[in-house]
Amino acid sequence: MPKKATKKEIEAIREAFISRYKDAKTELNYKNLYELLVAIMLSAQCTDKRVNIITPPLFKNYPSTKELASADIDELKEYIKTCSFFNNKAKNLIKMAKSVENDFGGEIPLDEKELIKLAGVGQKTANVVMIEYKQKNLMAVDTHVFRVAHRLGLSYANTPAKVEEELTKKFKTDLYILHQGFVLFGRYICTAKNPKCDECFVKEYCKEKPFNSK
Ligand code: SF4
Repeated sequence: MPKKATKKEIEAIREAFISRYKDAKTELNYKNLYELLVAIMLSAQCTDKRVNIITPPLFKNYPSTKELASADIDELKEYIKTCSFFNNKAKNLIKMAKSVENDFGGEIPLDEKELIKLAGVGQKTANVVMIEYKQKNLMAVDTHVFRVAHRLGLSYANTPAKVEEELTKKFKTDLYILHQGFVLFGRYICTAKNPKCDECFVKEYCKEKPFNSK
């Protein structure tokens, strides 16, 4: 196993990401909490670009959980069919909307512990909602964060939940900035294939350099 990042390196990585990504936001388009939650649920295994194409007509037809709760599933699938796993996502969107309407009086709860009580909403989705909407000090681990954490020696755990736990423990603060930063860095620089190591601003801390010839 490659070396783990030292405490000094962890602090240097924190500073580098904060300086570069402190104003970073999600690339998903949304106007309110409902739209954010739906966009995040759609974005699992799907690009933000694709979700942003899908959501304008979707939100026009289903402007709130009220309309979504009573959606016809086949009609809903037509709106989201270009998104991966759209069959399951359609089911989960309707379940989520019904939970909001029936159990939360039509108001989406703004708390990660309450959000996960909604059908179809897992821990990662709940954390991403809170990170984006409230800048809450939480970490969420998607495929990009998972890869970046490994390459920078921040965690070698083999499940997203464990990586989330280790990143939270190591950094403690600034987690929402670090989350956004790791996602964007993984999406555009430290990509899964052919990472752009020449453009990498933390290459001195990279533990694997799988494609870095320097
Ligand atoms: S040097 Fe390359 S592989 Fe290492 S963290 Fe930077 S972009 Fe990723």
